[in-house]
Amino acid sequence: MKIWVNGGLHAAEGALVSVLDHGLTVGDGIFETVKTVHGRPFALTRHLDRLSRSARGLGLPEPDLDEVRRACAAVLDANPVDLGRLRITYTGGLSPLGSDRGEAGPTLVVAVGGTKRRPDTTAAITVPWTRNERGAVTGLKTTSYAENVVALARAREHGASEALFANTVGALCEGTGSNVFVVLDGELHTPPLASGCLAGITRALTAEWCGAHETDLPLDVLERADEIFLTSTLRDVQAVHRLDDRQLPAAPGPVTTKAMRVFEERAGADLDP
Ligand code: PLP
Repeated sequence: MKIWVNGGLHAAEGALVSVLDHGLTVGDGIFETVKTVHGRPFALTRHLDRLSRSARGLGLPEPDLDEVRRACAAVLDANPVDLGRLRITYTGGLSPLGSDRGEAGPTLVVAVGGTKRRPDTTAAITVPWTRNERGAVTGLKTTSYAENVVALARAREHGASEALFANTVGALCEGTGSNVFVVLDGELHTPPLASGCLAGITRALTAEWCGAHETDLPLDVLERADEIFLTSTLRDVQAVHRLDDRQLPAAPGPVTTKAMRVFEERAGADLDP
């Protein structure tokens, strides 16, 4: 496997980043996961916009998006995969111990691995921990995912693939790596960005293509929603058939099925050449 590190491709064993890199020592890096189909990235421009927004929010140097595009193309060329996940990681770079960022400039790493199409339905749980809707890094896609790792481990203990968070005022927010949609009286709703959720690219496209409302939703909406589904780069649109102890045996229901179909049809048109 060939990985892009700071200006060039390297064999995986030789793809090295300093042990003093801020992304490792402090965790203030950012990342994007981009789906690729037959070597073509999906919605790359949206991902790069979000990378820039995350960099600004974290006070990192503005990423050189032309270089990131070149890196993605080089990595995809060197590692042919049918269905892939391109991972772009960007940090403030090397720093002297305990001091400021950036002595040697930022670190850019781009790698790709194969992935599998996710099942149409999955189980999810709710967790007692909250998302902070007013935090300094709320809405930024940072590499500080430890909280998500813990919540996802809890989900796996319960035979589920995703854990859903409420925010500090008890409103439904998002999953560890996905956004959430609910169907109430035939209408599609998703929490607004002010809930503290990530501005998911799949969320935005699904909301636009399927006409979803952005609504503040109390967490207990999950007990009465007719349908629940998750969206993310790697899940696309995925129905929830069990939420905690609640079974939703008809999943995917009619609204979710339509969202899945619309997403599949329209998403193909946004593949970079
Ligand atoms: N929320 C979180 C916390 C995520 O990490 C992700 C994706 O990684 C999403 C939502 C979904 O975003 P996207 O559709 O852009 O993949």
